[in-house]
Amino acid sequence: MRRLVVVGNGMAGMACLEQILKYAPQFQVTVFGDETHVNYNRIMLSSVLAGEKAADDIVLNSVEWYQRHNIDLRVGVRVVDVDADAQTVTGSDGRSVAYDTLLLATGSSAWMPPIDGLDKEGVFAFRTLEDTRALIERSGRGVKAVVIGGGLLGLEAARGLQVQGCDVTVVHLMPTLMERQLDPDGGYYLLGKMEELGVSVLLGRTTTAILGNGHVEGVALSDDTVMDADIVVVAAGIRPNIELAIKAGVVVNRGVIVNDHMETSHPDIFAVGECVEHRGVCYGLVAPLYEQGKVLAATITGNRGPTYEGTVQAAKLKIMGVDVFSAGDWSEQNSEPVRFEDRALGIYKKLTVRDGKLVGAILVGDTSDSHRYMDWLRTNADISDQRRHLLFPPPAADAGLDVAQMADSETICGCLGVAKGTIIAAIHERGVNTMSQLKECTRASTSCGSCTSLCQRLLRAVAPEFEDERKTVICSCLPFAEDRLRDILRSQQLRSVQEVLEIYGNGVGCEICKPALSYMLDMLWCGDHDEDRSARFINDRVHANIQKDGTFSVIPRIRGGVTSPDELRRIADVADKYHVPMVKITGSQRIDLLGIKKADLPGVWADLGMPSGQAYTKGVRMVKTCVGTDFCRFGTQDSTAAGVEMERRFEQLFTPHKVKMAAVGCPRNCAEATVKDIGLIGVEGGWQVVVGGAAGKSVRKADLLATVETTAQALEASELFFQYYRENANYLERTYDFVDRLGIEKVRKETVYAPEATRAGLLDRLQKSKARARDAWLEGIEPKTPAQFIPLVPMETLA
Ligand SMILES: Cc1cc2nc3c(=O)[nH]c(=O)nc-3n(C[C@H](O)[C@H](O)[C@H](O)COP(=O)(O)OP(=O)(O)OC[C@H]3O[C@@H](n4cnc5c(N)ncnc54)[C@H](O)[C@@H]3O)c2cc1C
Ligand code: SF4
Repeated sequence: MRRLVVVGNGMAGMACLEQILKYAPQFQVTVFGDETHVNYNRIMLSSVLAGEKAADDIVLNSVEWYQRHNIDLRVGVRVVDVDADAQTVTGSDGRSVAYDTLLLATGSSAWMPPIDGLDKEGVFAFRTLEDTRALIERSGRGVKAVVIGGGLLGLEAARGLQVQGCDVTVVHLMPTLMERQLDPDGGYYLLGKMEELGVSVLLGRTTTAILGNGHVEGVALSDDTVMDADIVVVAAGIRPNIELAIKAGVVVNRGVIVNDHMETSHPDIFAVGECVEHRGVCYGLVAPLYEQGKVLAATITGNRGPTYEGTVQAAKLKIMGVDVFSAGDWSEQNSEPVRFEDRALGIYKKLTVRDGKLVGAILVGDTSDSHRYMDWLRTNADISDQRRHLLFPPPAADAGLDVAQMADSETICGCLGVAKGTIIAAIHERGVNTMSQLKECTRASTSCGSCTSLCQRLLRAVAPEFEDERKTVICSCLPFAEDRLRDILRSQQLRSVQEVLEIYGNGVGCEICKPALSYMLDMLWCGDHDEDRSARFINDRVHANIQKDGTFSVIPRIRGGVTSPDELRRIADVADKYHVPMVKITGSQRIDLLGIKKADLPGVWADLGMPSGQAYTKGVRMVKTCVGTDFCRFGTQDSTAAGVEMERRFEQLFTPHKVKMAAVGCPRNCAEATVKDIGLIGVEGGWQVVVGGAAGKSVRKADLLATVETTAQALEASELFFQYYRENANYLERTYDFVDRLGIEKVRKETVYAPEATRAGLLDRLQKSKARARDAWLEGIEPKTPAQFIPLVPMETLA
């Protein structure tokens, strides 16, 4: 077998190796990586810094993958020498390895500009997981951070540090931000958005020195300003790593020169990724490296044929709430600009058209059309007949059918280089029908998430069962998808289940559609509808949980798990009086009275004098709490008070499915907030609000919705998500499916990062619903007497 040595265990090297392995195994492979990790998704370091992802979440190839392919992986070993004549490389551990084929995938390094004091403790680059970990370690509330560089990396670093609690200032040499991707107007809109987030930006200034006695204490700027600083992040650009290529005698310029077959000047030495220069261009983005990797894999395995022609460069900022996209040549030299801007909405769009073809695009504030523009740019399409609709597509083209017409070679997931053809093959050949199957099978949409909606549109267009899954939401009594039905109820001002069934359904309904309709009406009209209790689930009709033997379980509300001697006495008295066969502490910190006869229910409620814990309904169950700052030495936040307040705000409200919550005082997570529908996790200087977790039949770690400073903000973020879930989830869809289906990025964008008016609307509707919510036990909602119970339906029909 021939020996292949890969230098660089990064994104390009491993993407190319994956492609090589797709051909019949021909190589005995050794991979050197001077970082101490398996291959990870470097572009997600910004999300790790912002606390949105853990290091484990961004692993691309696990240790098992290397083992499965018999790859000799040498992590933490830097290749320090190459002998091209002897065909050997030597690692920093002193060991040499022979090769027949050498693949250089050494990437780039952060460029450090000539500034005095860069060697001081507290100066960081932002390139590796180690850098990111060190930054997280040093950042925190009140730490003053200066980021040198207002390009894509610098801004993502700035936002990440700010989320970690730092006071951040970006110092940028140029008069506008991201000037390589945005024109001055686009830069101006971006500036506004960064400032809205609370990041200070100083433009047109250079950093002349880093001040401090051994460690960073400040920075001096070209206009003689001196600023205090505790840490400095240098994000001033990157330089391809070409030292090894030089040692091997391979021709280099700025990068290692490669031709269209990805060959270097040496027949046994190849190069891929950020370290190469192709047709005079050194790329700094992932999309080109995937395209290069495919071509190189063909060349290296003796299947030389496809050529690499260069990549249309497109950049997207991954800062929540700051949508920025830029692609191609957007300068107005020899091209016609087409523009739209709205300062109030913070939206700026510019397209450049030359000879009837799109040559460049800038989008700030609304990037939803970026795929359409990328498609035109990549295919060099003639768009003359679409001139009227360049910025605002006609509704038909907007409806999503356009994805079906995209070429198979088009990239859907830019982060991981997944083409449309790969997704289509997964649908046809591997039976993929859902987003989670698609993610597992192709990895599309598992990185920054910006392609989630495109993947969904593609699934909907191509996978018939996915279409059905979306359509068959209610049942045959009501031939409408849920979102369509919501529109009908709203536009027709329908307020009763029977009315809807008579006008739009079969007039009768069933155990499936009636509870769903009841829920929708209640949610849409914020409780101001004609409640038809007979349409509810049986448990909601009797306000208790029916058990296997026909008796009921009664769980009073014990907010946040905090009770009192008086409540405990009443519970004990009720247990005695009604001969309750079992009194049990539940896993949710509540007390369950089991085996209560139906006839005794009203008496039990009256004697308890406590609100219903609603352990029976599709609604808010409980908020589990730990003891937090009051009693725990690790506590950073008052989780008990936060949990009690959270329960008070949400209790008695109906939801698409049950909602379980928790609040913990620190990341030790004693009340398991990370596997709840909504969880509050106390951290130093604030809270993390997580959503979509589960620890039942399905197990899912909750996604980070937001990191906030105060309990009031944490509660508000929870409220926004809660109401958004109520309004947008399908009936009986748990939050973990809902968040997975939409993608957390979309959820964030439409809740915590939504425009002010949207957030106010969500909160307002929640408050209206809350104002109308009633406690079933305390306020005498029917049935008041046993005789009024609606006859029970057979057990097997219960959901
Ligand atoms: C914070 C951040 C955010 C980014 N965001 C985006 C984005 O949103 N979109 C986008 O398209 N791109 C983004 N990028 C750029 C993208 O990550 C790179 O284009 C991509 O990682 C380049 O892959 P590569 O394999 O060529 O280089 P790398 O991923 O840098 O891999 C090279 C590896 O080789 C190792 N190495 C180098 N020399 C040696 C040696 N002599 N011996 C052993 N090992 C060696 C390096 O340590 C490194 O691990 C981002 C980059 C960063 C840092
Ligand atoms: S989660 Fe933290 S604060 Fe709460 S009890 Fe556990 S260790 Fe203490």
